[in-house]
Amino acid sequence: PTPLMRLIDWIADYTLSPPGMVLRLGLRVPEALHSPKPSVMFERAMPGTERLTPVRQRVMAVLEDGLAHSARELTERAGASPAVIKAMADGGRINRIERIVEPAYAWPDLSTTRAELSPDQRRAAQTLIKEPSGFKVSLLQGVTGSGKTEVYFEAVADCLARGRQVLILLPEIALSVQFLARFENRFGVKPAQWHSDVPIAERRRVWRAAALGTAPVVVGARSALFLPLPDLGLIIVDEEHDSAFKQEDGVIYHARDMAVVRARLGDIPIILSSATPALETQVNVDRGRYQHVVLAARHGLAEMPAITAVDMRRERLSGQKFISGSLARALGETLERGEQSLLFLNRRGYAPLTLCRHCGHRMACPDCSAWLIEHRFEQRLVCHHCGHGRRQPDTCPNCERAHSFVACGPGVERLIEEASELLPDARIAILSSDQNTSPRDVRAVIDAFGRNEIDVLIGTQIVAKGHHFPNLTLVGVVDADLGLHGADPRAGERTFQLLNQVAGRAGRAEKPGRVLVQTFDPSNPVMRALVAGDSSAFYAAQKSERSFDAMPPFGRLAALILSGPDLDDVTASANALAKSAPTGPDVSVLGPAPAALARIRGMHRLRLLLKAPRGGNLSQIVREWIARAPPAAHVRLIIDVDPQSFL
Ligand code: ADP
Ligand code: ZN
Repeated sequence: PTPLMRLIDWIADYTLSPPGMVLRLGLRVPEALHSPKPSVMFERAMPGTERLTPVRQRVMAVLEDGLAHSARELTERAGASPAVIKAMADGGRINRIERIVEPAYAWPDLSTTRAELSPDQRRAAQTLIKEPSGFKVSLLQGVTGSGKTEVYFEAVADCLARGRQVLILLPEIALSVQFLARFENRFGVKPAQWHSDVPIAERRRVWRAAALGTAPVVVGARSALFLPLPDLGLIIVDEEHDSAFKQEDGVIYHARDMAVVRARLGDIPIILSSATPALETQVNVDRGRYQHVVLAARHGLAEMPAITAVDMRRERLSGQKFISGSLARALGETLERGEQSLLFLNRRGYAPLTLCRHCGHRMACPDCSAWLIEHRFEQRLVCHHCGHGRRQPDTCPNCERAHSFVACGPGVERLIEEASELLPDARIAILSSDQNTSPRDVRAVIDAFGRNEIDVLIGTQIVAKGHHFPNLTLVGVVDADLGLHGADPRAGERTFQLLNQVAGRAGRAEKPGRVLVQTFDPSNPVMRALVAGDSSAFYAAQKSERSFDAMPPFGRLAALILSGPDLDDVTASANALAKSAPTGPDVSVLGPAPAALARIRGMHRLRLLLKAPRGGNLSQIVREWIARAPPAAHVRLIIDVDPQSFL
């Protein structure tokens, strides 16, 4: 489709990627370019005169419709054996033909009864479908559990009723079981799915059906944006603030932003949905570029959970304990009532640092500037950046003292020990996205929690997303400060979004929920906004801060990351770039500086950051800059326009 071709060129230009690399994102299943092999089918022939046996009569009855049917269909529907069908074909009573059968997904049933929308929801849905065609961006904002999905389903139904295709982008598709069930419930059919977990044969089907216009709805991860949907009429980006929409290698692009471009090129509406929209999106609303549609309250009887901060400075826990007295009591009470709890800690493994208590030696990755993380279940130390793993040694590699290692800090695996001591009778499980947990394992745990077979679920951010567990009434955030430090200018915003989403899992049905947030910094604006259940002051402060510093979306950034095996080579290339840095009003270059992850997989990494005003052509400035000082042969240059990651 022309809009897709234009999008590919647009992204190549914007991200400074070779167009072929962008095109390849849309051609991930080359086999799909060929039509399927013809299949053998049967249709009725001219009527004969001889009498037919009952079974042959049944075969003829099926073929009465004048259509071609496969042998399998005929055997099933007529109760005839394959031999009968072969004999009928050989005898000329039916015709054997070869036909190419293209994949097709059933068109959703728009007449099924749907949830009765509340007046607020109805108003929101009507605003969304008021202008069903033409480019328009809407931000659908509503607290967790307000029914955003139900509301945008109305827009989906409206688009389908006009016979056009719909694309729904989700950040974490492996977790979309509940979403798919809801879709099927509403529309009576399964949508086509597109993500890296879909088996190749199925992906081929989806790609062809998308291209032929026989996939009415595609639900997918960011790469679904590159499906050649010929009659795309609506795009939905759910959880639009989620950083999983940013592709961080190969072609570095933000799928939410590119979806908006796709909508503009196709002249169609797009809906961005979130409880905590990205600041960029909010500013677009402020500027009047996006329509704002708001759902103010949770649906039905559900109330927003009560959120309390636990001041960890007062708790004086020993260095080896991470659950405060208040949280422990709340866990006990919740268990006693037969309700469920969620403990959130965004740290995989057992402990983030292992050190020798004798000499202080810290176990680090040989190839990255990162500590090794203990994974006790597997009895290994693992680097979360390169995957390097080793057995936990018996003696310290530095001082050779035996059994001298101590684990420092908490990880989800460690938390389960502490929780089990506190609640010996509870059924406790972990949900974390480790290399060796497949999406299927993840779904199994989510399903078990949904069936009330788990009392306490301990999880990383994988538990934060979109799930609805009616009996979950307590959420404990173990280390709320975790994401607040570091070089990321969005650290506060990100932490707020994540914790708000986690907190939003509590009390989503009739039973009221409560959230305990453990923090060493309760006066931090993020914690204050969470506890107050009011983000407006927080976002206002974030906006003025970023506006003052001319940070996005008030200014623009591009990161240049240079890496290579030899630090001197990398430094020389980085210095050369710095020397020929672009100049101009409000244009500045920061760095080169060692990246926060100064070494990954043995590659040394330096970063430069270009800041430029909002109006200019940032990509063009970068293009000319690099042409003036191209990096040396053994130095790799990665360009990240609108960076989200600052590692
Ligand atoms: P959000 O996406 O805003 O977090 P959801 O769309 O997931 O909210 O809705 C939260 C829960 O409330 C879901 O279980 C959903 O089925 C239910 N719900 C929302 N609106 C309605 C409605 N109008 N009628 C019945 N159930 C609803
Ligand atoms: Zn490593």
